[in-house]
Amino acid sequence: MDFANILFGGPCNRACPFCIGKQLAPALRQNNLRLYPLRSQDEFIRQVRHRGIGQIVLTGTNTDPQLYRHEQRLLEDLRRQLTQTQFCLHSNGALALRKMTVFNQYDRVCLSFPTFEVDLYQRLMGSRKVPDLAEIVRQSRVPVKISALAAHTSAEFLDRLLEIGIRRVVLRRLYGVKETVRLPEGLVLRGDYRGNPVYDWNGMEVTDWSFDSSESTSLNLFPDGTISPDYLLTRASA
Ligand code: SF4
Repeated sequence: MDFANILFGGPCNRACPFCIGKQLAPALRQNNLRLYPLRSQDEFIRQVRHRGIGQIVLTGTNTDPQLYRHEQRLLEDLRRQLTQTQFCLHSNGALALRKMTVFNQYDRVCLSFPTFEVDLYQRLMGSRKVPDLAEIVRQSRVPVKISALAAHTSAEFLDRLLEIGIRRVVLRRLYGVKETVRLPEGLVLRGDYRGNPVYDWNGMEVTDWSFDSSESTSLNLFPDGTISPDYLLTRASA
């Protein structure tokens, strides 16, 4: 098994029209933002240890994991109990600058960031507050990867990411939405990662990620305490 997800549920600080978490059964997206320990936390740790899983991702079904009240405490406890495991945050970046201390305690971070343009950001994320990505990268002590939307990725967008110091980008398709995707010309095919093409953009790695062709496997701790390797459910990750 490649990795494990700890999934948070609750109100979000963004309102993406295509948020997959909203399509999940209510139990799987119930609010756990104030809970400590999480439901089934000990059993999840036991299974991660037993299966030798090397990476845990803190992410959301329908919320931003940085809204979790006990983020730092959870991370510290997990590190104490799982000394061989790496920890990764998947967030929309809205709280990154306010929570930089804990942000820098992960091994790496992936931020959902589809555009620098306010109007387009509003359309895609339901808010006009575009996180200051350049400042986040400047203050980050850990590698930051960007998760963007394939259908809205332009050469200018990739150039700007490169300019502020991003070295890895993953391009996603909107789940369940018919869209035309034309990737920027100039991407040079470098290989593939689990069936997904990996390109080079002037030294930046760009993966064209399609959930449907992915062969990744994961163990998931849902907000209601369900522990499941069901890959379909992981599509809800923020
Ligand atoms: S997609 Fe992510 S950031 Fe957007 S509303 Fe859903 S959980 Fe929040």
